[in-house]
Amino acid sequence: MAEKRDYYEVLGVAKDATADQIKSAYRKLAMKYHPDRNPDNPEAKEKFTEVSEAYEVLSNPEKRQKYDQFGHQGVNFGPGGFDFRRDFSHFEDVDLNEILSSFLGGMGGGFSSFFGGRQRQQRPDPNAPQRGDDMTFRLEIDFDEALFGSERTIDLTLPAQCDECHGSGMAQGAKRNKCPTCNGNGFVIGNGGWLQVRQTCPHCHGEGSIIDKPCRKCRGTGQTTKPQTISLRIPKGVDTGSRLRLQGKGGGGIRGGENGDLYVLISVRDSDIFVRDGLNLGVEIPVSPILAALGGSVDVPTPDGTATLKLPPGTPDGKTFRLRGKGVTSIRGDMTGDLDARIYIEVPVELNKKQRTAAEALAKALGEANFPEQARLKNKTQIFLSHKEKLSKVK
Ligand SMILES: [Zn+2]
Ligand SMILES: [Zn+2]
Repeated sequence: MAEKRDYYEVLGVAKDATADQIKSAYRKLAMKYHPDRNPDNPEAKEKFTEVSEAYEVLSNPEKRQKYDQFGHQGVNFGPGGFDFRRDFSHFEDVDLNEILSSFLGGMGGGFSSFFGGRQRQQRPDPNAPQRGDDMTFRLEIDFDEALFGSERTIDLTLPAQCDECHGSGMAQGAKRNKCPTCNGNGFVIGNGGWLQVRQTCPHCHGEGSIIDKPCRKCRGTGQTTKPQTISLRIPKGVDTGSRLRLQGKGGGGIRGGENGDLYVLISVRDSDIFVRDGLNLGVEIPVSPILAALGGSVDVPTPDGTATLKLPPGTPDGKTFRLRGKGVTSIRGDMTGDLDARIYIEVPVELNKKQRTAAEALAKALGEANFPEQARLKNKTQIFLSHKEKLSKVK
């Protein structure tokens, strides 16, 4: 994917642009690139998306602050990486609607029929306690930690109540005034021709009021970020994709609201011994050709320790033995998988003189009867070639 452009650059505004400057720049560009005005123009569509995304971030003081602080990383929730991010489903649920409502607001509602639009039934109370965000942290752990469980501490930066304004978002001596855009209602009525749709006010984000002097530290959001260290117990049996929930360890609540939850999304590194498939394990066991021929015991590593496997005489290459109950035990402890041990013949290397002599004596002592596969191929080849002779005479 191409490098993302700077949001300020996308909108063509200065870094210290006011909310109104950002809004007006967005309005102009959105009008210009709107899909309705540029049918069958993929470039315009792309521009429109870029512009909407930039506005979505820069029009929201909280997101703008994160963006200023961390760049695209701070507000981008794409896949990959080792950083924390908002729970994706949560993001989709809330922020997509915010994109739509801010878009509709920015367009003066002119395209409301185009999107339908969601309405907020109730104006949020700016003084009410606000629950902290649920956050997701991706954690990579070793294979053995997943099998046996472990203790970890993780360092991360989480949203927390601004300690400057104690979550009010107001500077000292600031007042809340009625929002002039929506006249304190928290919503505006968009006129989509024959359709009227109620939309969240883009100016006050539905609160109905705006702060005349926002807190400088949090830009009026009431929220900043705080580094945290969290201890975590990883239960045995987790696998890639397991999600652990730490209740109340997510983003800090605002104005007495409870904290959000922290979800730890596990990804397990490969083992250099085992392959894992759910609760089952597989392991490859190299065996001497002599041992495979004679039969005997081989050691097999298992999560419980080394097990002894008895090979029957004449064990072929690739033969798999299932060791029941030697796989991974589930998180709940109610199920244990199996371990498949696959035998493969390891050809001996670097024979010394004495070994060579012994091997030559053995080779001489072995006959056709000891290698039925070789005899079988020889036989089939003879038949094949005799067919060839017969067929080349037909004409
Ligand atoms: Zn503040
Ligand atoms: Zn408003």
